[in-house]
This record gives sequence, C-alpha cells and structure tokens, in this order.
Amino acid sequence: MDLTDFSAGAQYIAGRQTRGTGTEPFQVVNPADGSVVQQVTLASTGDVDAAVAAARAALPEWAGATPGARSEALLKLAAVLAGAADDLARVETAQTGKPIKLSTEFDVPGTVDNTAFFAGAARNLEGKAAGEYSGDHTSYVRREAIGVVGSISPWNYPLQMAAWKILPAVAAGNTIVLKPAELTPLTSLMFARACTEAGIPDGVVNVVTGAGLGAGEHLVSHPGVAMVSFTGSTPVGKRVAELASATAKRTHLELGGKAPFVVFDDADLEAAIHGAVAGSLINSGQDCTAATRAYIQRPLYDAFVAGVAELFEAVRLGDPLNPQTDLGPLVSFTHRDRVAGFVERARGYGAVVAAGGHAPVKGHDGTDLARGAYYRPTLITGVTQDSEVVQGEIFGPVLVALPFDSDEEGLRLANDTPYGLAASAWTRDIHRSLRATREIAAGCVWVNDHIPIISEMPHGGYKSSGYGKDMSQYSLDEYTQVKHVMYDTTAVVRKDWHRTVFGDR
Ligand code: NAD
Repeated sequence: MDLTDFSAGAQYIAGRQTRGTGTEPFQVVNPADGSVVQQVTLASTGDVDAAVAAARAALPEWAGATPGARSEALLKLAAVLAGAADDLARVETAQTGKPIKLSTEFDVPGTVDNTAFFAGAARNLEGKAAGEYSGDHTSYVRREAIGVVGSISPWNYPLQMAAWKILPAVAAGNTIVLKPAELTPLTSLMFARACTEAGIPDGVVNVVTGAGLGAGEHLVSHPGVAMVSFTGSTPVGKRVAELASATAKRTHLELGGKAPFVVFDDADLEAAIHGAVAGSLINSGQDCTAATRAYIQRPLYDAFVAGVAELFEAVRLGDPLNPQTDLGPLVSFTHRDRVAGFVERARGYGAVVAAGGHAPVKGHDGTDLARGAYYRPTLITGVTQDSEVVQGEIFGPVLVALPFDSDEEGLRLANDTPYGLAASAWTRDIHRSLRATREIAAGCVWVNDHIPIISEMPHGGYKSSGYGKDMSQYSLDEYTQVKHVMYDTTAVVRKDWHRTVFGDR
C-alpha cells in the first residue's frame, strides 16, 4: 500500500480513505516555499458522525480482543511504520517545514518506538490483586476500555502527536476518531492507513481532517464519544473541557508550555550554552517543552548570553530537505508573523535583541528564504519577569535570558508563569539539583539536559499545561476505567450489615 497517495480524500473512516461530504477546500502548504503539498476537503459534521459511528461499531470486537491480539497488531503496525520511514519523514517535513534530519532521526523513530512500547504495554494492564478485603467478600478490579475516544492534535509534531493519542487508546481496547490540525493532516492519515495495513480492524482508528470550530467542536460534543483527549493550546483546551462537560466526558488535556531553563553558578557553562541552543530551537521552538526562559545565576549571565548569541548566529537555516539544514521555517506565514509580533512588541518595551530578531533572506545553501515562513533564532535580554515575552507562549525560535541572584529567586522565577509542562536545572551540585527537581512545578524536570523523551516515561503538565499523561504505562490509566467487582462469599441470607438499615441483631 502506498501510504502517500491522498488522492482518494482526506478522511479515513471505517478503514477507507474517502472525500467525505464536506465542501470546504483547504490547502496543505509547505511553509518552506509556500507551495501546495495537497489540496483537501475539510470534514463536515456528517463526516464526524460517520467516523464516530464506525468507531462505535468496531468497539465491541476490539475491546473484547485479547491483550495478546491487540499487542500483535501493534507490533505489526510498528513494522509497517518502520518500512514507511522515508515516506513518513518526507511528508512530515513537507507539511511542517521541519528539517529532514529532525523528521528522520526524531519524529519517525520516536513513533515506531512508541508503537512497539504500546504493543508491550497492552499486555501489562495492572490492577490490585483480588482479595477478601471485608472478610465476607471477594473483590477484584476489572480494567476496561472507556469507549470511543475523540482526539484532537496540534500541528507541531503531527505524526508523533497522532501516535501519542492513538496508541494508548487502542492498546487499552478503545476505538478512536482523531482530528489532526488542519494545517498538517497528512501523516495522521498515513498512520491510519498503516493501521489497516497492519490488520487493525476497520473502524478502530478513524481520522477526520477538519477545522477546529466545525469538526473539532462537533467531535468533542458528540454524544457517541466517551472521552476526549486533546493536545494543543491552553485557551482551546479550556474550550474543549467546557464543551466536554456538557456530556460529562472524561478529558485528557496536554496544553501549552513555557519551560524555564535554570543555570546555577556551578554549572558547566559550555554544556548549558549548547543545551540552551538545542533546547530552545528544536522544531524551530515549536515544541511545548522547548526552553523559553533562561534564568542564569549572575556570575555566569554575561558569558551565557554571549555564548548563546554566538551559536544562534551560526545556526544554518535553509531548505528543510537539505540534511545539513539545522532550522526550517515556522509552520505557516501567519504563525511566523505572530512570533515576529512578540519580538517587535518587546523592542517597544525596551528589550535588547542580542541575536536574530528578523526574518532571514538567504539560506546557508543559497535557498531563497524570503519565500518561506522563516525566522532567525532570537535571543532577548533586558526584560522583566512580568513582560509578555516571559509570560506568554511564543512557540517560535525565541529565547529570553534573565539573571538571578539567590537559588530561591531562580526557583521562584522558574515557577512564576501559569504553565508547568517542563523545565531544566543545570548544576553539578547534588543538593541543588534535588531541590530544583522537588520545587519546580512541572510534569518533567531535566537535570543537565533539556528535551529528551522516552516511551517508558510519562509526558504531561502541571498547572495550566493541563492534566493527564501521554506515553508510558501511566497513559493507559487515562484510557481505561476500573470497575470494582464484589462477590459475597458467605451465602448468609440475613447479613450482619442489614441491621444498620432494618431490624436488630
Ligand atoms: P491549537 O490549540 O490552536 O489547536 C490544536 C487543535 O485543536 C487543532 O487540531 C485545532 O484544529 C483544534 N481546535 C481549534 N479550535 C478548536 C475548538 N474550538 N474545538 C475543538 N478543537 C479545536 O494549537 P496548535 O496551534 O495547533 O498547537 C500549538 C499548541 O499546542 C501550543 O500551545 C503547544 O504548547 C501545544 N502543545 C502541547 C503539547 C503537550 O504535550 N502539552 C504538545 C504539543 C503541542
């Protein structure tokens, strides 16, 4: 099966690619040069209804399959995805603009590994041991699928986000309707087709390519959907939770981030500088865990700013398909202009732009970057903690550096935004690192690194970064419900506890 053939339409319902019944055309654009990658028709609400119906029809058989059978299908899926690795990387780069070396070495292998992980996890759903907890009963716990999951994903890592949503849901026996971001639906469609190729029954995995306000809200509100899992911005996540509450659905929200990067004065300065460059520029800074606020203890501050500025200037922007390109464009021209707007307003309130701060014209490889949504790596200093660039999610290649004096101050500033997704602490002192990992309120704290993720460990937020975990065994808790089953073991007709309701001993 050629996973890259999208000619039959951008909806994937009941194991078939279809055009759906929508009429609204939409162009998936390559932000590196503005060319059209694929013309699609957005899903109508009727397409969402059809996808939910397909997922409901597939549910009894899939939820009733043995863990071993689900695991086997996911193992086959991992093999199909690995076999399509080059196509997946190429399409991911075309629709997002991310450098091919990132798609090839991070997005695709990460997805394959995640798939293999959930193939194993599907056979390891844990629960309490059965026992006689009251003395007169045997109790045990059944861990059951929830039903049809409605999932909504963002554009920054389209393939990985689709995988993070689909895999734990189906490993646990649910069926799913995924609505990817309209800007980047193509690798989610490829993933769904790969599921069919791997033998996952029709209707278990469905994809509707539609707009947030139309298809997205309809999916979240749908009475046939039992759970909503959402990854995206905090304002939209709040809207999703509000809509889901009308039908009391379980929600799982992975929202925005504004990760602090805290460098104590005993840190390895060179390691921190390199870590800040990679940690802030990964995926052009369009990463919810990217380093965005660097707090540097005063003795290291000037050297850190100089070091990062120098490396930022050396980053190679160019054609994303060139394996030497470090940084591609942002996902769209609109988003690039939004990022530039943050920097322009910061200049207006007195920020110093220590590197970048503009759209580039020529790439390292001679590419005409003015045709794409490029923005140079940008380092901002001279702002206060309450400024917009420190508090707001820019979601671009923009790092802000601020000095601090005491350890208390550094940790207080790190916690001083509404977000709490990820953070890092840079120090060679065991006590400082233990304190930082304890006191920073975030779902992930790295020590002397920033960004790496692994399938075995949970990813998810604190505070306004949402709740619920992706990846790891913990995510299976999100996609299952536990049922207490209690058997009377006495066969006594008049049970002792009845007297609390009627009669005497
Ligand atoms: P977004 O919130 O604009 O959109 C996310 C998804 O929601 C898209 O599919 C969109 O079509 C849909 N949507 C928009 N309005 C909707 C509505 N009213 N009802 C239902 N669905 C709606 O986010 P984005 O711009 O695509 O992605 C960037 C954001 O995602 C950033 O805030 C980033 O931090 C966040 N993110 C978080 C994580 C995480 O794990 N916490 C991971 C990746 C991205």
